[in-house]
Amino acid sequence: MIRDANSIPNGSRLEADVCVVGGGPAGIALALALADEGHSVLLLESGQLQEHAPTQDLYEGEVADEQLHSPPGKYRQRRLGGSSAIWGGRCMPFDPIDFETRAHIPHSGWPLSYGDLLPWYPRANALAEAGRFLYDANEALPEAGPMIAGFDSTRVLTNGLERFSCPTHFGSRYAKRLALAPTLEVLLGANCTSLQLQPDGQAVRELQVRTLQGTQFFVAARHTVLATGGLETARLLLASRDVAPQGVGNQHDVVGRYYMCHIAGNVGTLTVHGPTRNVRHGYEISPEGIYCRRRLSIAAGEQKRLGLANAVARLHFPRITDPAHRSGVLSGLFLARKMISYEYSKRLKDGAPPSAGIYARHLLNVVADPLDTTAFLAHWLAKRTLAGRKFPSVILRNRSNRFSLEVHGEQMPQAHSRVTLADSTDALGMPRLKVDWRYSRADIDSVGASLDVMAEEFERSGKARFDYNRHTLEEDLMRFGAYGGHHIGTARMGVDARSSVVNADCQVHSVRNLFVAGSAVFPTSSQANPTLTLIAMSLRLGDFLSRQLRAERSPLQMKEAA
Ligand SMILES: Cc1cc2nc3c(=O)[nH]c(=O)nc-3n(C[C@H](O)[C@H](O)[C@H](O)COP(=O)(O)OP(=O)(O)OC[C@H]3O[C@@H](n4cnc5c(N)ncnc54)[C@H](O)[C@@H]3O)c2cc1C
Repeated sequence: MIRDANSIPNGSRLEADVCVVGGGPAGIALALALADEGHSVLLLESGQLQEHAPTQDLYEGEVADEQLHSPPGKYRQRRLGGSSAIWGGRCMPFDPIDFETRAHIPHSGWPLSYGDLLPWYPRANALAEAGRFLYDANEALPEAGPMIAGFDSTRVLTNGLERFSCPTHFGSRYAKRLALAPTLEVLLGANCTSLQLQPDGQAVRELQVRTLQGTQFFVAARHTVLATGGLETARLLLASRDVAPQGVGNQHDVVGRYYMCHIAGNVGTLTVHGPTRNVRHGYEISPEGIYCRRRLSIAAGEQKRLGLANAVARLHFPRITDPAHRSGVLSGLFLARKMISYEYSKRLKDGAPPSAGIYARHLLNVVADPLDTTAFLAHWLAKRTLAGRKFPSVILRNRSNRFSLEVHGEQMPQAHSRVTLADSTDALGMPRLKVDWRYSRADIDSVGASLDVMAEEFERSGKARFDYNRHTLEEDLMRFGAYGGHHIGTARMGVDARSSVVNADCQVHSVRNLFVAGSAVFPTSSQANPTLTLIAMSLRLGDFLSRQLRAERSPLQMKEAA
């Protein structure tokens, strides 16, 4: 059942086996998994089915430096489905090396391995509607040729794939299943404003829930899972101070710290020798109809040998804002950027406002390139606007075999990159969030060293050449600051309660019935986008809780039967 939280009588106390707070991909995957096992689940979702401005305003907050990180009200959606309402749908699992303790990456190492998470990835892939769990091009696209003909390297791999979700909006896609599951109830407009602990601080007693219309009630569940996204989870833990004045799970001042995004940007020029058919840089379609894309990655052994963080690069078009590319399509995008949402137009705005001359050159590009521009518009309308499974992003026809490399790199964890509570409060009286995201010289140097490996290997192969300017690399990677919607690490997982917030089962160390689902628990960020992995982690948590609930129930059932 899905109903509005205002229908709950004021002051009442609801009960459930599990209360899941937050109905994004993490919360929906978990709630459905638990309901499938017959457990009673209450899913509290702050938002509605559609965007609602006063609810979205609850996400507003402060940033230490807006050049480095977008305001927290951006790149997040407070409604059923969470940020999957606007995500790009790029899916790929983390690499085995991401879970390892790497001497060259301080604070690295998960308390679980890739193999431990692997059983849940295929189900996560299915929920994200990304087809089969095949991320090696040789297996997924057996008929297709290599990414770059003749380029063969053990240091730079080209067989890795990204697969694309529809992109699935988890709210609209799974609303019916949520509504029909007999043991599941979804409350919309239900904002969890505080976790209230038992007096000894070791278990959640109840959750305080409030609506914007003034209804207040409480939820007492055997287990509570925070699935409120990488930033909001820290906010809720820090703001719940009735028993623990420093916030829940925060005895050692770790909640909100080690905040990571990804290090990303367009860098340099890759020139592939030979005919354009030698390169696969765009989207390919797998036999089951999923858009896939190749990328370059650095082999794990090479990362260890050179002390690198994980990073990948895709073959991309030149910087859109610079009309020197002479592409009518890119200039058209630049000119239309005011009509594109903040999240998708941010990378179309760099530096000072463009001069009239720049506008004129972009306009000229559009006028001089009518065939490509018209063909692009027709393709976009048919394959993106009107299609159920959408063409993932703008790709230009390759005429010159010249590309920039679009880098997506792991950010190393550091304690002083953090979120804290601001002095200001939202409409429900909760302290707003203050984001102070930091990157380090080591993050930039690691990407630089990865690009050097790629340049060396292209040169050695004689098949391509990559040039970039090391002196402008930091500027290239930080032009738009932290990479948008990937909010990682604020309630990190680990074995030591002094340096982590949750254990390998996602349970808050000090609170036996409180769990976290989502990228907040990732101790390191990988090169990969986070959503597929956070869904897999949610499904794993679902199985863990299901076993717990069955174990808790069985003595009681045995007593009743007797
Ligand atoms: C523009 C954009 C593009 C992206 N592209 C990709 C991509 O291509 N690939 C990828 O892997 N990831 C991508 N992401 C990231 C992806 O959207 C997130 O990783 C994913 O949505 C996180 O899921 P979640 O359930 O953990 O959190 P969210 O999606 O943030 O959901 C949290 C939910 O909790 C609810 N909530 C919050 N606070 C409360 C409260 N106090 N009480 C009750 N409910 C609450 C919210 O309303 C929301 O529904 C993108 C993000 C953006 C913004």
